[in-house]
Amino acid sequence: MYENGETEPGEGSYQQGGSKEGGADRGQGGARARGARGFRPHRRVCTFCADKVDTIDYKQVQVLEHYLTERGKIRSRRKTGACARHQRRLALAIKRARHLALLPFTAGIARGTG
Ligand SMILES: [Zn+2]
Repeated sequence: MYENGETEPGEGSYQQGGSKEGGADRGQGGARARGARGFRPHRRVCTFCADKVDTIDYKQVQVLEHYLTERGKIRSRRKTGACARHQRRLALAIKRARHLALLPFTAGIARGTG
């Protein structure tokens, strides 16, 4: 290798094409600490997958109830921990069960009105 300390000028000229900073200042003051602590740190496996459940039976009300909130709403996937496939089938099963009046559409909480 020969010594060539001099770098040739030219060629290395970078084109700084109009770099307008059109960054609108949005107030994204988002240093919110989303502490996901306290909510099941591990175990991300879908329970249905773990049990190798293929189809979710809408007649198994006791199972389905487990995935309803107190108000009778379907729990979100985050809470159930079900994978996309099973969450779908779960929702479908719940809706069927609702249709057959096995599960409530709304809360079992007594309404004041009426
Ligand atoms: Zn699954």
